[in-house]
Amino acid sequence: SEKISVRNVSRSYESTRALEGVSLSVTEGEFCCVVGPSGCGKTTLLRAIAGLENPDSGSVLVDGDPVTDPGLNRGMVFQEYALFPWRTVRGNIRFGLDRPACNCPDCEARVRELIDLVGLKGFENAYPKELSGGMKQRVGIARALAVDPEILLLDEPFASVDARTRDHLHGELLDIWSETEQTVVFVTHDIDEAVTLADRVVIMDADSGTVRSTLTVDIDRP
Ligand code: ADP
Ligand code: ADP
Repeated sequence: SEKISVRNVSRSYESTRALEGVSLSVTEGEFCCVVGPSGCGKTTLLRAIAGLENPDSGSVLVDGDPVTDPGLNRGMVFQEYALFPWRTVRGNIRFGLDRPACNCPDCEARVRELIDLVGLKGFENAYPKELSGGMKQRVGIARALAVDPEILLLDEPFASVDARTRDHLHGELLDIWSETEQTVVFVTHDIDEAVTLADRVVIMDADSGTVRSTLTVDIDRP
């Protein structure tokens, strides 16, 4: 069934048209990659699905309901980590919880489980500046997964990590996805990365920074 429906969405920033008449449908449980060149509006589209951005026109629906704000059923992983530098790994991940200040046994256990899930055991008390790019992005993923969101939105999450680490993280992300049965929207400018990961690749076409069309390609993952 349809989990996310983006209908004819447009969004401008002053003189820049970031999105123009973009429509996209994502099926429940699907791993969907959105590909397009830098500046074509991918981040804007993802932020609109996250509820961090209000379109000028058109609508975004999740489970048939209009998205009006960031909801607990959506987790977002940002390109530039967006970690709190003054918080430890544990503190950053805890911040993703519904009740970040709570230290009840359940919340503590959940934080430990997330640290385990993304392979950061032993780094609980490290600060972001002490971590590699790949490790920082693991923290970002754990934080986004903290509330067990139905939808995981990732904005070029591995753009700043080296190729070897990226391959490794792709495998881990697919493992997590196969366990959680989440609906994933993964944005990248890298077609190879999209083909490696996705059930379906949606191509955004850019002309003078304006999205003209989306194209859907079916891919069989080995
Ligand atoms: P992508 O993620 O594909 O690189 P973006 O969605 O970030 O594309 O940006 C689409 C266009 O909108 C670009 O031309 C960008 O410069 C512009 N844009 C994005 N965010 C803003 C903003 N906050 N203010 C002004 N222009 C913006
Ligand atoms: P990944 O991000 O996939 O872990 P890296 O090449 O960044 O790959 O790091 C490989 C391993 O090296 C990490 O899992 C970690 O154990 C260790 N490591 C990397 N950076 C640091 C660091 N700044 N301090 C301590 N250990 C590190």
